[in-house]
Amino acid sequence: MRAWIYHGNQDVRLEDVPEPVPGPGEVRVRIAYNGICGSDLHEIFNGPMFIPLETVHPTTGHHGPIVLGHEASGIVDAVGPGEIDVEVGQRVAIEPVFRVPGDDAHYNLNAAFYGLSANGFLADCAVVPRRAVHVLPDEVSLIEGALSEPISVAWRAVERADVSVDDSVVVFGGGPIGIAAALSLRAKGIDKFAVVEPSRRRRIVVSEMGFETLDPSATDFQEKLTSFVGSGVQACVNAAGVAPVMKQAIDVLAPGGKLMVVATHVEPVSIDLNQLLMAEKTILTSIGYRDDFPSVIEQQARGAFPTSSWVETVRFEDLVETGLTRLRSGEAIKTLIEVNGG
Ligand SMILES: [Zn+2]
Repeated sequence: MRAWIYHGNQDVRLEDVPEPVPGPGEVRVRIAYNGICGSDLHEIFNGPMFIPLETVHPTTGHHGPIVLGHEASGIVDAVGPGEIDVEVGQRVAIEPVFRVPGDDAHYNLNAAFYGLSANGFLADCAVVPRRAVHVLPDEVSLIEGALSEPISVAWRAVERADVSVDDSVVVFGGGPIGIAAALSLRAKGIDKFAVVEPSRRRRIVVSEMGFETLDPSATDFQEKLTSFVGSGVQACVNAAGVAPVMKQAIDVLAPGGKLMVVATHVEPVSIDLNQLLMAEKTILTSIGYRDDFPSVIEQQARGAFPTSSWVETVRFEDLVETGLTRLRSGEAIKTLIEVNGG
């Protein structure tokens, strides 16, 4: 089968590898679509960071070149021996956490992922345990199924921020996670929020989805932000991951407000703890997802996560030339690689 294999910094190769065979309790998924995310770009252009090229991964035991891809949908095309409650032909989204026995309570904190710590899904097929697949209802397409993973990241962050219908919120960052956070807020009935995003292209897409946007590089940004937030918002979502956002977010919080950090940061960030202390503001964090796929897929089935304006598909063989290039230049917001389509 075909597979995109990571060999090191800016060295990703399309190769022919043997098809994996499912063992007991496992299923084989013929991959339909696989999304490219920021962590893939980090590994390819700045890494290796998490991919165990030189060492043995403590959880997965993987070592050496790896099949990339951790945001996938597909069709079950084989099941392992023994009793298993999915059937060949069922459409699924894959939750790419590599689970170890006994880690159920906090499995998102034991971060080992297919596509980063074990072979992933940018290949014709992948074998995963039964528990890693979530069957898609008819209303959810395979394109949407490949987005269940990144949407779950945003959904969990919004859940943990625990905002109420009357709260006002500012989302920093209009990339895939910021967009999914905005859509999650809307799905939960929250309508008083704005998305702060420096890229004009992204702001246009976000405002076309019906959301208020603000440009942090505009000279009147602070003025506009103040007029939007008034005496302060109850919550901020930091999906931007750039240092100035932490201060901006803390500034716009009302007393008692919560700042949810869902973005990774390349550099340590300095903040004034007294500014939090004197107004009892709270910083929260959220990583990955824990049992969020079922809720997200239900919301996708209800149409809460439209994809037409911010998601594009690229042919499998064009991953490097078209897919990575358009993401790096900012021309694409979210790219799904069409592996076998469907
Ligand atoms: Zn990802």
